Amino acid sequence: MASASGPFVQPSTSGLAFPQPQQPMKLLPVKPRKYPNRPSKTPVHERPYACPVDGCDRRFSRSDELTRHVRIHTGQKPYKCRVCMRSFSRSDHLTTHIRTHTGEKPFSCDVCGRKFARSDERKRHSRVHLKQKLKKEAKQQQQQQQQEQHSPPGPSTSCMQP
Ligand SMILES: [Zn+2]
Ligand SMILES: [Zn+2]
Ligand SMILES: [Zn+2]
Repeated sequence: MASASGPFVQPSTSGLAFPQPQQPMKLLPVKPRKYPNRPSKTPVHERPYACPVDGCDRRFSRSDELTRHVRIHTGQKPYKCRVCMRSFSRSDHLTTHIRTHTGEKPFSCDVCGRKFARSDERKRHSRVHLKQKLKKEAKQQQQQQQQEQHSPPGPSTSCMQP
């Protein structure tokens, strides 16, 4: 133990040698929080990737974690559904959306609001509205044709104008 001629003597400065962030993004200094003694799993010096958004003091140990996080700022959709990972710009939008997951029917028809457990079921259902729409349009076209046939000749034959 008294030997002083060891070739593998290492100074314990390994904590300072973390890799530098390499993304082109401009990183702003992180503002100190009001409660700095907040417990966190990873020490701050091991999380060199700070969120550049003003007012957000999140830090990450990996660049891909930061990239993923920054999307919530750039897309302005910070409210994320834990069930289907859809993001929403407003918390009440997310609250409304989460209700669609209760009852194990997360997919609702945009037209009539009917709920379905699977997206392909909803897709199949949406054809009903498409058919209805086509039918309606065909009927309207027929009616228009009939109106044109029955309307008397004149300078303005349209009675649909406001
Ligand atoms: Zn952020
Ligand atoms: Zn969801
Ligand atoms: Zn529907």
